[in-house]
Amino acid sequence: MSARRDELCSRDMTSATRFFGAVEAGGTKFVVAIGDEHGNIITQQRFPTTDPVSTLAAVHTFLREQGGEPRPLAAIGVACFGPVQLDRSSPRYGFIGQTPKVGWSNTDVAGSLARAFRIPIGFDTDTNAAALAEHRWGAARRLNNLVYVTTGTGIGGAVLVGGVPIHGLMHPEIGHIFPRRHPLDLGFSGTCPFHGDCMEGLASGPAIVARSGKSLLQLDEAHPQWEIQADYLGQLCAQLVLTVSPQRIILGGGVMSQARLFPLIRQRVRHWLGGYIDRGDILTGIDEYVVPPGLGDRAGVLGALVLALAAAA
Ligand code: ZN
Repeated sequence: MSARRDELCSRDMTSATRFFGAVEAGGTKFVVAIGDEHGNIITQQRFPTTDPVSTLAAVHTFLREQGGEPRPLAAIGVACFGPVQLDRSSPRYGFIGQTPKVGWSNTDVAGSLARAFRIPIGFDTDTNAAALAEHRWGAARRLNNLVYVTTGTGIGGAVLVGGVPIHGLMHPEIGHIFPRRHPLDLGFSGTCPFHGDCMEGLASGPAIVARSGKSLLQLDEAHPQWEIQADYLGQLCAQLVLTVSPQRIILGGGVMSQARLFPLIRQRVRHWLGGYIDRGDILTGIDEYVVPPGLGDRAGVLGALVLALAAAA
């Protein structure tokens, strides 16, 4: 297992500083870190996601070595790839559910840490955690009602109301709502194994490749795929405006690293809203309303840190 450790912050910590473990548990990589309540990451390590036994063993080792004396941990937060069980009354709380990631179905992630460290464990989806980090330290500071959508290998979304992620029945699955089909895209059946042409089936990274044979980055700017992609994500944002009335929408994930998409999507958001939402945020201020993440690829591990802070509170 190859690993990389980064010493990110060497400034002196006062004796009053409390330390927290942060685990970003992704389907392709894990990032484990020690941080403080101000969002400083003191040290972190990343390694590829292999089988659950050896991957979780590496997490435990890091947290023991880096979080022991002189940095005893007050709590650990886990931002986990899904699906996950978030119902605290369930005996499977903190487990990963049925996942195509080989070997990981029914893995007890939170419980293994709770038993080993005997400190509070915060646990939520990677998307909810990223939204919490953006709310606390990133692109949605001082805004309590927001949506964070990540578009990459899939499409996931988090809805924060009053600064807290909606859980309810489980957690929102924004990526699986159904858009109106783009006129240039009527022949494509979509890639979602459950729904075919849901949003994820039409606008995730794999959907783009399935439709055009290439990623967005490899396609000429005049290629219709850009227009199709912007339209679907514009529809998604418009539906979110109408259903949950967020104060800001943050669009992250690998597909959204193409900055050129943002102005195209904003145009389509306004198109689909049709002037109905009579708010300056949409009509003239949409550049500040539909935005990229403020924390970039640090949102995951910082989100895990927020979960740890909440667990220790
Ligand atoms: Zn679907």
